[in-house]
Amino acid sequence: MTATPPTEHNLRLYIETVGCQMNMLDSELVVGALGKQGYTLTDDAKQADTILLNTCSVREHAEHKIYSQLGRLKHIHRQRPNVVVGVMGCMAQKDQKQIFRRAPHVDLVVGTGQLAEIPRLIEEARHDRKRKLAVSLGRRDGSVQAVSTSFQSYDPLREPQMRPSPWQAFVRIMIGCDKFCTYCVVPTTRGPEQSRPPSDIAREIEVLTDQGVREVTLLGQTVNSYKHTEGGRLFRLADLLELIHDSPGIDRIKFVTNYPRDMGDDLLTAMRDLPKIAHYLHVPLQSGCDDVLKAMKRGYTVAQYREMMHRIRDCMPDCAVSSDFIVGHPGETEEAFERSMDAVREFRFKNNFVFKYSPRPGTKAHELLPDDVSEQDKRRRNNAMLDLSNEICEEDNAEFIGRNVEVLVEGLSKATIKSADPKPPGSAPADSPTGPLQLVGRTRCDRIVVFDGNPRLAGNLAQITIDDATATTLIGRIVTRELQHESPGLLPILG
Ligand code: SF4
Repeated sequence: MTATPPTEHNLRLYIETVGCQMNMLDSELVVGALGKQGYTLTDDAKQADTILLNTCSVREHAEHKIYSQLGRLKHIHRQRPNVVVGVMGCMAQKDQKQIFRRAPHVDLVVGTGQLAEIPRLIEEARHDRKRKLAVSLGRRDGSVQAVSTSFQSYDPLREPQMRPSPWQAFVRIMIGCDKFCTYCVVPTTRGPEQSRPPSDIAREIEVLTDQGVREVTLLGQTVNSYKHTEGGRLFRLADLLELIHDSPGIDRIKFVTNYPRDMGDDLLTAMRDLPKIAHYLHVPLQSGCDDVLKAMKRGYTVAQYREMMHRIRDCMPDCAVSSDFIVGHPGETEEAFERSMDAVREFRFKNNFVFKYSPRPGTKAHELLPDDVSEQDKRRRNNAMLDLSNEICEEDNAEFIGRNVEVLVEGLSKATIKSADPKPPGSAPADSPTGPLQLVGRTRCDRIVVFDGNPRLAGNLAQITIDDATATTLIGRIVTRELQHESPGLLPILG
């Protein structure tokens, strides 16, 4: 079959995104830029004129999935040679030309710092059919300034369709990382730590609120390390929160991911005093054993993390904290793993993301530390920690039964979408069945709540009474206005 070259009016883009919120935001920016060139999104790769895979390098498994997907795309490329296939993001920066060697049908390899160049590179590749490689400098390939500049990519074009819901948006406030944890590829794939000017961030939030956004999540690899001097004033994250807090239209502000050592009292005080800031912190502990933390080069001990947790809970007793753990890191004995389990019991995280260690080429751990925990032990530890976390989360969520919480309504719940398959969360309910449907929202402490209600509530705050709870979800019902008037003895609003 011979493909007809697309015109600028009927271009279709298929994009697949794996990895973290940073990647979701990168995809939104690229789709925004390509939208300006006349592209529309398709969810069928076979119909697309351009296929982009936005990739993650944090775990080996994610990379394997991308190479398998590239294998499948080979057949589409063979049938429709005009299709442009691109690999973007972390894996592109890390593997570079290796991707062309493993998947010769790939036309573009574009790193995290060159996303703004993608529209031009696609056009060039379509016309000259030559491979395009656009990546940043390696961390040792130039001066700090030159390397930093090569990673700067702040494309301001936003694309509402690519957001978790029309009411929620990510805003990047910094890129890169200088912590160099031994297991992590991020300092290589995202480059040196750089914070954006506060005035640019405030302007971007204004644009988003004009588009109807009510909740922003500020993104940074170590978001609480944010610092930028503007107009002679040093802005840290606490100052930035204060600056954007009163943006008209914004109901809630979150930020991820936090680095334990940079959790300042100024930030905790700002969270306590500014009512729109979520009382939720994602602060990965990674291990409950000091020897493992040292091997990871995390820069803190369990005692220091404990001290931070005390400060958080002294300042905001209702603040939810979640964590990441790596199990099976080199040198993690059974005893070391048990210390991590003890930490899960002690800190009672709102939820835990548990990962089995996998050595990543280009990291110190890969170079210097033998991967000495068997796959079987990693899997067992992973499951044991997830079971324990679920038990704790279920107990803690049960404490909410009978209380009222304030929820920012995101839209239809996954269960509703699955049963009716109407539209993504937060979609306008024009063709939805009449009557209440199951909706989903989050409390100020980032707990997921489902309840029945009119889909038109999406994007608004609602008061919900909690009737039941699982490890992951609170189940409730809307507090009616009558009830609020007639029941002065209602329990206080928590969230
Ligand atoms: S703080 Fe450590 S784990 Fe987090 S992005 Fe930086 S190097 Fe990676």
